[in-house]
Amino acid sequence: MQKTFKVGISACLLGERVRYDGGHKLDQCLVETLGRFVSFVPVCPETECGLGIPREAMRLAGDPTAPRLVIIRSGLDLTDRMEQWACRRVAMLAKENLCGFIFKSRSPSCGMERVKVYTDSGGAPAKIGVGLFAREFMARLPLLPVEDEGCLHDPVRRDNFITRISC
Ligand code: SF4
Repeated sequence: MQKTFKVGISACLLGERVRYDGGHKLDQCLVETLGRFVSFVPVCPETECGLGIPREAMRLAGDPTAPRLVIIRSGLDLTDRMEQWACRRVAMLAKENLCGFIFKSRSPSCGMERVKVYTDSGGAPAKIGVGLFAREFMARLPLLPVEDEGCLHDPVRRDNFITRISC
């Protein structure tokens, strides 16, 4: 079947070894089902903004309504770096004629919803964050269908996503 649709995707879901620990999060099911008729455009915000592999693990922290992206161990704040890169990268992606994007769930860079935000006061993190790249992408391209790989394991949501990207 000819691959008609271009869909952006968090690169680790394709098996690319771009995670902080040098690993990947290949989603075989996703690649086999959707990969038959879409062309994936892989994006890894953390490596593409120059953080390297391996790198220190990071998370969202601070004000849950405007969280910062910080290195867990040192507290180094990477927010400005990621936001500036994301702004440029999304502008490039906007010219790619993408039909949608599949984000890696729970990531402080790629997660599109329910990402943990750790507050300064300690305690349980609030699952209300959005990864910084995903936030920029969805703000700049609000009409493009987006999902994360966890949701796409649900056949109904997967069919719905396929319908939306093919419209
Ligand atoms: S979740 Fe996003 S930033 Fe993290 S490794 Fe995967 S593609 Fe890269």
